Amino acid sequence: MIHKHRTKSEELCMLESLHARMDLTENDRKHYINLKKGYEGELKFDSMTEKLQCDCLLLNDLRLKMNNTHFQMDSLMITLEGICMFEVKNFEGDFFYERDKLFMRNKTEINYPLIQLRRNESLLRQLLQDLGWNNIPIDSKVVFINPEFTLYQAPLNLPFIYPTQIPKYFRKLNTTPSKLTKKHLILADKLVSCHLEKFPFLQLPEYEYTQLQKGITCESCRSFSVAVEGMKVVCGECGHKEGVDEAVLRSVKEFKLLFPGQKITTNKIQEWCKIIDSKKTIKRILSKNFTPEGVRQWTYYQ
Ligand SMILES: [Zn+2]
Repeated sequence: MIHKHRTKSEELCMLESLHARMDLTENDRKHYINLKKGYEGELKFDSMTEKLQCDCLLLNDLRLKMNNTHFQMDSLMITLEGICMFEVKNFEGDFFYERDKLFMRNKTEINYPLIQLRRNESLLRQLLQDLGWNNIPIDSKVVFINPEFTLYQAPLNLPFIYPTQIPKYFRKLNTTPSKLTKKHLILADKLVSCHLEKFPFLQLPEYEYTQLQKGITCESCRSFSVAVEGMKVVCGECGHKEGVDEAVLRSVKEFKLLFPGQKITTNKIQEWCKIIDSKKTIKRILSKNFTPEGVRQWTYYQ
């Protein structure tokens, strides 16, 4: 059972928006693609764990802090036997293992997921002790989710689950008898209460309002080729349709995420959305969904 759902990280949402609205440098673009790919892999893993029949509690994407050190876990599962911690990797292609390191075929070294896994396990153990939960067994695994991932020369004893082994791993979990008690639920709630919505150290490019392309982007394909047709916003690229209100609200959310200090006014949002000609429409949507502050032309929304 899913006890905590995954949400797209603030960093990925911001990069997605910036990627559509400005030219990213090669490094920022790579970072964005990596995050996006990682997130897609995590969603794929979620689609598998949510089908599990055994009695377990799933906590997806936990961001925690222990002794001033932030750490993030892709997926955590509470079972009768203890905690299973998963680090999900969506690597694609041929990789090889050499002297405790992982390389791509062209010999580029990549961050070795086992180091992260061990570090997270140790921090989680300390946090659990801090919360008064001692001696809970923790079993951590790196899950390679991409079916087109191959790793050469890896020793057999690594805590890795390869794409071809995932079905068997879940089958085993499903057939292990498990009946959770209230104690497990308390532990799950405790961990969720420690989850940090805001996470520091975002790796973002510098940007200013003036340099960003204005307009509503398509909800589906992110293209700017959208036009208002009646009460809908219709994409000229992929044909996706979205209600005008929903599209404007989505754009306001984007604006607030990129410019948290700025006030939401009718003029600003009309300029930001660009394709909504009627000021009245913007005003109606804002007053329906936010609380107006100030008077007349100085009105802003919170
Ligand atoms: Zn589209």
